[in-house]
Amino acid sequence: MSSNQPPPLVDYNLFASDVPLRESLEREGAAWAHDLVSELGALAGTQRAIDWGFQANANPPQLRTHDRFGERIDEVEFHPAWHELMKVAIGHGLHSLPWREPRPGAHAARAAAFYLWSQVEGGHGCPVSMTYAAVPTLRKEPSVAEQWEPLMTALEYDFGLRPAAAKKGVLFGMAMTERQGGSDVRANTTRAEPAGSGGEHLLTGQKWFCSAPMCDAFLVLAQAPGGLTCFLLPRVLPDGTRNSFRIERLKDKLGNRSNASAEVAFDAAWAVRVGEEGRGVRTIIEMVNHTRLDCIIGSASLMRQAVAQATHHTAHRSAFGRLLSEQPLMVNVLADLAIESEATTILMMRLAGAFDRAGDPAEAALRRIGVAIAKFWTCKRAIAVVAEALECHGGNGYVEESILPRLYREAPLNSIWEGSGNVNALDVLRAMQREPDSLSAYFGEVSSVRDPRLECAVDEIKKEIANSGELESRARAVVARMAVAWQASLMLRHGDPDAADLFCASRLVNGGGHGFGVLPTRPELKSVIERHRPRFYNEG
Ligand SMILES: Cc1cc2nc3c(=O)[nH]c(=O)nc-3n(C[C@H](O)[C@H](O)[C@H](O)COP(=O)(O)OP(=O)(O)OC[C@H]3O[C@@H](n4cnc5c(N)ncnc54)[C@H](O)[C@@H]3O)c2cc1C
Repeated sequence: MSSNQPPPLVDYNLFASDVPLRESLEREGAAWAHDLVSELGALAGTQRAIDWGFQANANPPQLRTHDRFGERIDEVEFHPAWHELMKVAIGHGLHSLPWREPRPGAHAARAAAFYLWSQVEGGHGCPVSMTYAAVPTLRKEPSVAEQWEPLMTALEYDFGLRPAAAKKGVLFGMAMTERQGGSDVRANTTRAEPAGSGGEHLLTGQKWFCSAPMCDAFLVLAQAPGGLTCFLLPRVLPDGTRNSFRIERLKDKLGNRSNASAEVAFDAAWAVRVGEEGRGVRTIIEMVNHTRLDCIIGSASLMRQAVAQATHHTAHRSAFGRLLSEQPLMVNVLADLAIESEATTILMMRLAGAFDRAGDPAEAALRRIGVAIAKFWTCKRAIAVVAEALECHGGNGYVEESILPRLYREAPLNSIWEGSGNVNALDVLRAMQREPDSLSAYFGEVSSVRDPRLECAVDEIKKEIANSGELESRARAVVARMAVAWQASLMLRHGDPDAADLFCASRLVNGGGHGFGVLPTRPELKSVIERHRPRFYNEG
């Protein structure tokens, strides 16, 4: 008797199976990166890589505060699987591609690659993302960038406590959040005392969240005499001695378990200023913008992996005499998840393209407001998509041997770090008020396609913004509508026409659906699902 259990989803190419990604890569001018992303897509579908993801999460990192002789070392030990994941990520330039190859489409190419490889395992994306994001901030201090950038962009993963000069490649973290407040970094109390010429300072204080504390250096916010300032703080000093960077403990986290997140303390730790004194937020915001892009990519990646698993599972599992994928109500749920995933993939690639084209003022303006809109919305939707895709598996989805519990635990994190939901919604309002060009760029983008449902939604958004009532408490409602209208316009221009029509019918009209599985009943639902169902190599 058949066990009615689906075959594992392995031995497939995640890139080849992802039509919206393939189309977006070309559209955003990154077709030249086809071989790189296809190679990663193939590797991500192998049992070996999938095993690394499971092993790195089943064996979380351990803090080693002291060596056997009682000397402090403040080092984190990882399972070998973590190092394998990191080697692939760094070796393929996921931490540096646009800085190594600053050609049109480089951010889009990296986004596609990061999205594919993160589907194997999300936790190790944290140091990869922070290293990528630190470069534009560091460039604000050219003498410091000159020294560090070649090592930050090298394709060598070189783990361990050694001075940067003795390494083939380095990784960066960021330390902003303190115990008394993370969103409001102006409340930071870490002090920076000037210590010589050339921007050198000694930092004393604590940081409540410092992820990937095994990195080689950190961008840190601290109070200098002239106000909140950004600093580069290395973990090991050039003479090989340890900087005064103590790891107090590792956080016991809901998810993101393969990665270490620490509480750290500095006691007159040596650091060098990056950017102007007193302009710390303005300096580090470039890093934050790039990590926010990665939260969007990470959310798209979680959605895609969840939808791939759900469409695969239901195509091989029967109930009540029919495949689940043939049951009308399941068809509706799967199609609804698929169009959400498609809209998010297209949006993420559109935004990455805006990073590539930031030299164009209209694209820079769209990027300014677009990152906050997309970060707010896609991170929220990823949580709902993953939960629903998990449920498509029934009890099997609730069991750790499937990847779904891991995706589920990972999903809320993108919405918290690098600015939580409210902070991003409020950032959209700030952009509208202080940089009105960004709002014009947004409306230019969403109005570039004609569709009566979209036009009506855009009119309503304009009215909501113009409404003289207090906007702050309505920020989430407005930003959510802005995000959905933007996704609708992208779907109409670039998505599968059936999926685009369903997206508009279900999300722009009557206030939009709150749950999944509420699409209008149409024969095309099945073809939408087929577009998203991953294929084994021998399936054609
Ligand atoms: C696993 C993990 C790893 C992390 N790694 C790092 C790291 O490497 N480096 C680092 O610097 N930080 C890191 N963080 C910290 C993270 O960035 C902060 O937790 C986040 O910015 C929120 O700050 P907070 O925790 O102090 O919450 P708070 O600032 O107290 O915010 C609590 C809630 O209030 C909301 N809120 C805040 N202000 C307003 C307002 N004006 N109006 C309405 N609502 C508001 C927020 O959106 C949030 O929902 C990490 C966090 C986690 C969970």
